Amino acid sequence: MLDKAQKMLKEYPLCDNCLGRQFAFLGYGIENRDRGRAIKTLLAMDAHRLVLTQNPEGYELLRILAENGGSQVAFSILRKHGQQCGERKKCFLCGDKFDNLSPLVDKILGMLEEYEYDTFLVGIRIPAQIEEREDELRARFGIEYGESMKNEFSRVIGKMIAKATGKRANYMKPQIVILINPFTEKIKLQIGSLYIMGRYRKLIRGIPQSKWICSRCHGKGCPRCNWTGKMYPESVEELIAGPLLEATLGEDSSFHGAGREDVDARMLGSGRPFVIEIKKPRKRRLDLSEIERVINERAHGKIEVSGLRYVDRRAVLKIKDMESARKIYRVLVEFGRDVSDEELEKLEKALSGIKVLQRTPMRVLHRRADLTREKHIYETKIKRISPNKAELIIKCQGGLYVKELVTGDNGRTRPSVSQILEVESRPLELDVLGVLEEEENGEV
Ligand SMILES: [Zn+2]
Ligand SMILES: [Zn+2]
Repeated sequence: MLDKAQKMLKEYPLCDNCLGRQFAFLGYGIENRDRGRAIKTLLAMDAHRLVLTQNPEGYELLRILAENGGSQVAFSILRKHGQQCGERKKCFLCGDKFDNLSPLVDKILGMLEEYEYDTFLVGIRIPAQIEEREDELRARFGIEYGESMKNEFSRVIGKMIAKATGKRANYMKPQIVILINPFTEKIKLQIGSLYIMGRYRKLIRGIPQSKWICSRCHGKGCPRCNWTGKMYPESVEELIAGPLLEATLGEDSSFHGAGREDVDARMLGSGRPFVIEIKKPRKRRLDLSEIERVINERAHGKIEVSGLRYVDRRAVLKIKDMESARKIYRVLVEFGRDVSDEELEKLEKALSGIKVLQRTPMRVLHRRADLTREKHIYETKIKRISPNKAELIIKCQGGLYVKELVTGDNGRTRPSVSQILEVESRPLELDVLGVLEEEENGEV
């Protein structure tokens, strides 16, 4: 090992880190910088022995260690013996970057100051020609126990940041990823999103679940959308995101509901589960019950949220799975003529414990593939409201289009209320009364 180190130093100036890194997997509990310095010290001691035994190679070796290795021990021996010696040269591999990381780390610390976080991860980018240079050197000298320069930069800078901030490096789920090129000193922060889960109730009709961009101007603003860029002035998403963006100073949000109700349907019962993703949050430690209070106060009479809690990214997938969760709907139906009690009884039976074959409704065909889906109705309860109106409470599989179950959608949904009673039927009001999670479904 010492022999290899000596040969390398003879040809290339190498700082303590870059020499030590070539032997990084030898010895535990020691940094490359100390490894490199120890090797140089040993070589300088041996060179001193050569000098004392009148071997002319001694001074030559000391000069190499001083000029190419920057070894203080070698400088001191040469000075004591009245020998001339050149200046220390810049490291062939890192250009002395390892000796001068403090300004870079200070810059990173300044950028991090704006954010609240507990965990971080350092990612390193290195110019290709510098990586190639190290690869060539390794191949030439048969280096077997070396570590990559990227690894060392990431560990050394990570330790400096951890020491200065008291935060932890985390490889699996860091809240902030710090991308650094130590050579160009370019720094980029990737701020992990904050995920918050809860349930919402929508108490009035006419509010879409998510922000609905104007289809004519694509959000730029036009006469049709009254220069708002949106089809509706507010949405469940915006009513929830507003106070959260204020509290987190986040840049944007993204809303994921466990399915969605139509704009003209209310969402009642215990509400629909959702996950909201806050992008680039500056604050993460929130008083969620206070935020819940603010959301409910500002959206009073429109929507209500409950059970806000922190979750991680995986909750978004779970929410997507829940689209097919069981639902309970209330639909007020108007029939084209008066219907008898017998007919309503017949309808209740015909819509309980059945499979419905449903082709993609005409009204959503422009954005959904034309498929036939099979959906279960577990139970239907019917209450008469007037001679030609009744309220249906339908417990069914998620994804059933209830309006089309009433109208029949020109035969695309079978069976349907219209088809069973042989009378044209239409939905007047639709409410979601419940979105049942698996546990509540009684199925695991
Ligand atoms: Zn170096
Ligand atoms: Zn518009």
